[in-house]
Amino acid sequence: MLNIVIFGPPGAGKGTHSIRITEKYKMMHISTGDIFREKIAKQTPLGMEAKSYMDQGQLVPDELVVKVLVSVVERNPDVNGFIFDGFPRTINQAQKLDETLKEKNIPLDLVLSLDVNKEELINRLVKRGIDSGRSDDTFEVINHRIQVYENQTQPLLEYYQKQNKIETVHGIGSIDDIFADICKVIDKHI
Ligand code: AMP
Repeated sequence: MLNIVIFGPPGAGKGTHSIRITEKYKMMHISTGDIFREKIAKQTPLGMEAKSYMDQGQLVPDELVVKVLVSVVERNPDVNGFIFDGFPRTINQAQKLDETLKEKNIPLDLVLSLDVNKEELINRLVKRGIDSGRSDDTFEVINHRIQVYENQTQPLLEYYQKQNKIETVHGIGSIDDIFADICKVIDKHI
C-alpha cells in the first residue's frame, strides 16, 4: 500500500496525473475539488455551501473539507493506497490528515510536488476555463486562487520537507514525459 499527496498550485496537472497514477498503480484517487463539484451538481447543502467559496476562489473552510476527506478514507478501508489530490491545502488540514492516517495505521509515503511557473499556470487555467466552462477558471478568480495557494498552501512544502517526504517533478512538457518522471519517483517508494 502506497499513499501519496500530489501537491502543486492550481493548474499544475494534479488531476491529470492523479488519474494516470490511479490507473497504473491501482490506487484510489481522492480529489476534494471533484467531490465538491459532484455535491454542487447534486445541489446538496454541503455542495451549496462549498460553492459560495469556490466561485470566489477561496478555500472551503477546513472543518468541512476535513469531514469530507475523513469520511471517504473511512469508507474505503481496503484500497491499495490513496492519492490525495488538492488536499491538504492548509497546515491545519495537513495536521488533520496526519492524525487521521496515524489513527488508522496508514503511512503517508510521499508528497509529489509538481513544479510549474505562474505564467504557465495562468495560461493553462484560462484555456481550461474556455474548454470546460469551469466556473472558477476565469481570469480574476484564477489570480485569486494562485494568491491563496501562495499564502495558505505553499507553506506546506516546508511542513512536509521537515518530514522528509517531498519529491519534486518538473511539471512542464509533454504529459507523457512528466508522467514518466512521476513514475520513476513513485517506483523508488514501492
Ligand atoms: P481543485 O479542483 O482542487 O482546484 O479545487 C477547486 C476549489 O475547491 C478550490 O479553489 C477550493 O475552493 C475548493 N477546495 C478543494 N479542495 C480544497 C481543500 N483541500 N481545502 C479548501 N478548499 C478546497
